[in-house]
Amino acid sequence: LVTLEGVGKSFGDNRVLADVDLSVEAGEVVIIIGPSGSGKSTLCRCVNRLETIDEGRILFEGRPLPTESRELARMRSRVGMVFQSFNLFAHKTVLENVTLGPVKVLGHNRLQARARAQELLERVGIADKADRLPRQLSGGQQQRAAIARALAMDPVLMLFDEPTSALDPEMISEVLDVMRSLATSGMTMIVVTHEMGFARSAADRVAFMADGRILEIAPPESFFAAPRTERARDFLARVL
Ligand code: ATP
Ligand code: MG
Repeated sequence: LVTLEGVGKSFGDNRVLADVDLSVEAGEVVIIIGPSGSGKSTLCRCVNRLETIDEGRILFEGRPLPTESRELARMRSRVGMVFQSFNLFAHKTVLENVTLGPVKVLGHNRLQARARAQELLERVGIADKADRLPRQLSGGQQQRAAIARALAMDPVLMLFDEPTSALDPEMISEVLDVMRSLATSGMTMIVVTHEMGFARSAADRVAFMADGRILEIAPPESFFAAPRTERARDFLARVL
């Protein structure tokens, strides 16, 4: 579904991504871990062209990422993104947040969009919060609303960048549970997280990044049991 070939990216003379090769199949869940500053967020942002790359290429559904703005918008509408901060529209209700994209971008009928939004809110366990404003929700509920909003666009790929990092500990599992059920349902996912338990249980493959490179990529069983590089062993010793 997505292929990165020899991707490189610099900010000034800071080489943030170097020689990144990664291929994510439809239905696969790839979890990216690694120390702060290793390029995890930048990699995610390059996949939907929020950042441009300097070297290599990225293919989405077999084609290079579009550069022309209409095509790019169409491609991005097929890629859901959920960040650390919830990014909901503060002055719109949860339901409005979830219907806006389908109505405005996809041109769906408002009534149908609302019905579908209500279904999605049920799926993420906050159907009773549909008419609340984001600030009236807990962090975990807001993040689940953000996931519902992304899913409303019927994405073929979901990117998650540390979706639980800003949450209080007791709310982390409710968000991870939603992500786990999404993974089980066959969604293709690229997830940056520091939740090693989640990586172990939900990933098809774990990619370990350091200094802008993917140093290891392997199924979680083998990665966690026997990391091959010193960097990964050090990292795991600190986070586990
Ligand atoms: P963290 O775990 O802290 O989120 P990360 O692995 O996501 O880290 P990135 O945010 O991708 O790391 O950053 C990688 C490097 O790129 C860092 O050195 C960062 O300072 C730099 N960087 C990221 N975005 C920009 C930007 N817009 N302009 C300049 N430098 C940037
Ligand atoms: Mg980051």
